Amino acid sequence: MSIETVAVVGSGLMGRGIAYAAALGGYRTLLHDASPEALERAVSQIGRDLEEGVARGRVAADRAHAARSLLSPLSALDDAARAADFVIEAVPEDLALKRRIFARLDELARPEVVLSSNTSALSIAGIAAATRRPDRVLGMHFFNPVPKMKLVEIVRAPATSAASVATTEEVARRMGKETILVKESPGFVTSRINALIGNEAFYMLEEGIASAEDIDKGVKLGLNHPMGPFEMVDLVGLDTRLAVLEHLHQSLGEKYRPAPLLVQHVKAGRLGRKAGRGVYDYPGDE
Ligand code: NAD
Repeated sequence: MSIETVAVVGSGLMGRGIAYAAALGGYRTLLHDASPEALERAVSQIGRDLEEGVARGRVAADRAHAARSLLSPLSALDDAARAADFVIEAVPEDLALKRRIFARLDELARPEVVLSSNTSALSIAGIAAATRRPDRVLGMHFFNPVPKMKLVEIVRAPATSAASVATTEEVARRMGKETILVKESPGFVTSRINALIGNEAFYMLEEGIASAEDIDKGVKLGLNHPMGPFEMVDLVGLDTRLAVLEHLHQSLGEKYRPAPLLVQHVKAGRLGRKAGRGVYDYPGDE
């Protein structure tokens, strides 16, 4: 089946970025959100992102123009699901909510349509079990900010078919993304490695091995990472990182026990840039 129409369900931070990439990839893009205000904000933001892309020379003006005309906001999930050849769900990280949406999508979308979820950590098998097409359900894990980040982790549950993976690889490629294929497991590839590096950095800081600035500098200049682990965790949010580590600790074992200094920072409200202070202080950012 050739894919012409992609439905994106949820138009928040991730959904609007996914819709941006789908429309730029030449797909008729149906963007749905339960909140009309969120949908309106998303369409304006996508317009601004396209303008910025053109201004910075990343997007040709005619492609941006085409993308704008391919994008349709839809307040009814049913209309989006019935017309879709491929679905990407990006509603909040709540298993019960995602299962409800997938059950509805399963009723409405044609049987051959692949239903994908942008979940960061929930079980794809658990989401797929709400449908009668578990072979056509998989994870499509995008990164924030979607317009700039190149990777999509394709997460394959035990029942996901090879054909569904191949279809998703092609959709991601047309959206300008590179893919990796990951078996369903806690933290997939990227969150698991990132959590481990970030946690180790807190242990090192606590042991007085080096200052935060020097750990960051070492990782950037010696290992060629674009950001140091503390700059990164301040951006992600220390509370979010702690939640990921707690999940990995429960499911994968001792190696992922959250560093006491990280726990202490979270208790003290040092949550990162969003709180004006994390490992570093951000006066005026609050
Ligand atoms: P968000 O809160 O910014 O957006 C969620 C959107 O879903 C909101 O606009 C909300 O109105 C809408 N929504 C809520 N209930 C709905 C329903 N029943 N039907 C339709 N729309 C509904 O959240 P986000 O950060 O975009 O995250 C979305 C998903 O992407 C989550 O599963 C999250 O774990 C995952 N994710 C997030 C990031 C990130 O950095 N934020 C990165 C990768 C993956």
